[in-house]
Amino acid sequence: MISLTKINKIFSDKHQSFHCLKDIDLTIDKGEFTVIAGPSGSGKSTLLNIIGLLDKATSGTYLFDDLDVSTMTNNALADIRREKIGFVFQAYNLMPVLTALENTEMIMEFCGLDKKLRRQRAMETLTSVGLADLKDRFPAQLSGGQQQRVAVARAIAAQPLLVVADEPTANLDSHSAENLLNLMVKLNHDLGITFLFSSHDQRVIQRAQRVLQLQDGQIVSDERKDQQPKLVAL
Ligand code: ATP
Ligand code: MG
Repeated sequence: MISLTKINKIFSDKHQSFHCLKDIDLTIDKGEFTVIAGPSGSGKSTLLNIIGLLDKATSGTYLFDDLDVSTMTNNALADIRREKIGFVFQAYNLMPVLTALENTEMIMEFCGLDKKLRRQRAMETLTSVGLADLKDRFPAQLSGGQQQRVAVARAIAAQPLLVVADEPTANLDSHSAENLLNLMVKLNHDLGITFLFSSHDQRVIQRAQRVLQLQDGQIVSDERKDQQPKLVAL
């Protein structure tokens, strides 16, 4: 579903340039549950941004869902992003003035779904992440773990092929982190959504089916475990 060939990313401005990703070759199949690990500054977020079509590689070829996205215009990329990719960020990025339900509905507005269907889908999704009762609360009235679950609901409401999550557990206590991981494992299992995370967090790394280690912009190891992603009893 994702195929990167010789992907390079060079950040440059007038004064300096920095070769961040170096000849990355990577294939990810539909339904895989993968973590990108590696030290701070190794290029995890940069790679996720490119795979999530938020940024473009400097060179190389990227096939997403059999489409060559390396040569597409920004508008065409934005359409694919809206329809096929969900995002979960460390800082949640919920809109503070919208309720949990409204936040979950928000992304679907960009997908052209009609209002009634959006509301219904948002409600179903909030129920699936265990937050139906809290649907009318604003982010400030939710704990970090609950906010992160709204962020996951929002990411999956439009039924994407791929969910990209940059350090999704970074601000969570152990219980909330395990809860969130259980949720993502379940969505992966039940709906076949492909999940790709970046994380330093051992809790996340242990659960994954596949762990990529990034170092200085290169993939230095790619470990596939002989297991389904794990559910952990709480
Ligand atoms: P962390 O674990 O701290 O989140 P990371 O592995 O996600 O780190 P990246 O954010 O991908 O690392 O950054 C990799 C390198 O690229 C860093 O040295 C960073 O400063 C540099 N970098 C990232 N974005 C830009 C940018 N827009 N312009 C210039 N340099 C950048
Ligand atoms: Mg990062």
